[in-house]
Amino acid sequence: MNDVRGIRLLDAETVGQIAAGEVIERPLSVVKELVENALDAGATRIAVRVRGGGLGEIEVADDGSGIDAADLPLAVLRHGTSKLFDAAGLARIGTLGFRGEGLASIAAVARVTIVSRTPDAQIAAAVDAHAETVGPCRPLAGPPGTRVVVRELFANVPVRREYLRSPAAEFARISQWLATLALAYPHVGFTLEHDGRGVFAFAPGDPIELRLAHVFGHGARAMVEVRDAGDAGRAGISGFISSPGDDRADRRAQVLFVNGRLLRSTLLSGAWTAAYRTFAMVGRHPYGVLFLRVPPHEVDPNVHPTKSDVRLRHADRVLTMVREALATSLRRGAVERLERSISHSPPPRANGSGEAVFAWSDSFVALEDTSALRVLAQIDRTYILATDGSAIVLVDQHAAHERIVFEQLRANASRNAAAEPLLIPHSFEVSPDQAERLDAALETLCAGGLIVEPFGERAYRIVATPAHLVHAGKTRAFDVADFIDGLNDECRGLDAAQRIWASLACHSVVRAGERLEPPEMTTLVERLQTCDNPMHCPHGRPTIVRLEPDAVARLFKRL
Ligand code: ADP
Ligand code: MG
Repeated sequence: MNDVRGIRLLDAETVGQIAAGEVIERPLSVVKELVENALDAGATRIAVRVRGGGLGEIEVADDGSGIDAADLPLAVLRHGTSKLFDAAGLARIGTLGFRGEGLASIAAVARVTIVSRTPDAQIAAAVDAHAETVGPCRPLAGPPGTRVVVRELFANVPVRREYLRSPAAEFARISQWLATLALAYPHVGFTLEHDGRGVFAFAPGDPIELRLAHVFGHGARAMVEVRDAGDAGRAGISGFISSPGDDRADRRAQVLFVNGRLLRSTLLSGAWTAAYRTFAMVGRHPYGVLFLRVPPHEVDPNVHPTKSDVRLRHADRVLTMVREALATSLRRGAVERLERSISHSPPPRANGSGEAVFAWSDSFVALEDTSALRVLAQIDRTYILATDGSAIVLVDQHAAHERIVFEQLRANASRNAAAEPLLIPHSFEVSPDQAERLDAALETLCAGGLIVEPFGERAYRIVATPAHLVHAGKTRAFDVADFIDGLNDECRGLDAAQRIWASLACHSVVRAGERLEPPEMTTLVERLQTCDNPMHCPHGRPTIVRLEPDAVARLFKRL
């Protein structure tokens, strides 16, 4: 937000410490400077109008704080800024601009007119600037806020024009940048016009989904939300990321904001890769947008002339946080899709056909009337605490989910349920001995609905997944490597096919240590109660334990 102390020229010491000046290299650079100024001024509506790819004219109008008439000539002077006062301020920059060079750099290569009005001024003031000259300030009618018009861009530096692409291509950069920026400022309305045609109009506070769809295309509908992790004052992360299996050939669609500043995504590319690795994505790249919040004194935006990179004080810690937030969101996203798909599928048939021998089953009291189970809390991110009003009931979230998926797979196979083909096959690579084990399982997997094809040396691709276990043609998110390793698990009582389903179930469900929201727990518990064998996971471990009132009374020495 703009500071009320007004615009001053930076002192020589501060100027000496700021990274080399803004470079206006193409029309997009102009739009960036102007829109960032509008955001710094607290605008809630920003209108961008472009002609001829920006070489004709660029106009950015906002409803922000405006510039005092007395300050207007200073705004276009190099190092004239209201956002930074001394070198010490460089350590905690909270605005997008801070060097006071944006408007001056634009004026150096174009004709600039600024019209601005503060909320309490009766009338707007205008000033023209070009090259080194700033014209006199004149009164002009205009609404509160600021409007900057830029004409004859690069007329005096023809060599810059030579590096530009076609007007359409230059405009495309502007359009893409602005729509992307809009993701980080959902409360701000953005409109873009080219040659008099409206290109997009995002209203202030409209649903983020509209903006996501504009930037990422139709895959955005299945994006997984990264819910804000972290707390005020410390680093935090939120965002929206592609679901596993939906990916791109390059990293360009990995969008990163740090404290509202749009940056090159390379800073976090390692975290993206690490988080998605367990979801068997090889060679292609997930996409999405991440909003990273770090305390201003822990980030240095003054390292790059175009401010497209920053330095993070605790980069390692931040990267770990991001990686964990991504992985957690992906697992949660997988669970949610699974729950959605399970709740839409017919209940598994009761057939009790040969299953694991449940060594423990006698030592646990069966649930007579499970319908009344009420979920109370998650314990240790592993158990669901529930009650039927008298007994204390603990559900092992992983074991319970395994049981549900296992029965679903078995039902699929017995019904010869169709596998659901994937729109985009999902490729992965394995080690030589994993390949051997996987080859042996291919036929059974196919019967259960998971169709995996060899695809070059040690490479495979999943072309279809079990019906009802996927949502909207998306690849089930599970850890292929772990799944293959799990095929070896000894498990008495399970035949070969069941062992494969058990491993598939085990590696595609919620794990211990994963936070679940109350609705997720309720779905899990409800769904478990409709299973043939709700009491045990496919490997025979208990899913539910009950502590009866008697047992509780004994603990309190009442009996
Ligand atoms: P910087 O953004 O680094 O301060 P600029 O040259 O871009 O430098 O802008 C100079 C000053 O002009 C800003 O510090 C701000 O006070 C004022 N200013 C520029 N654009 C706007 C705007 N759209 N609304 C309000 N004030 C503005
Ligand atoms: Mg600026």
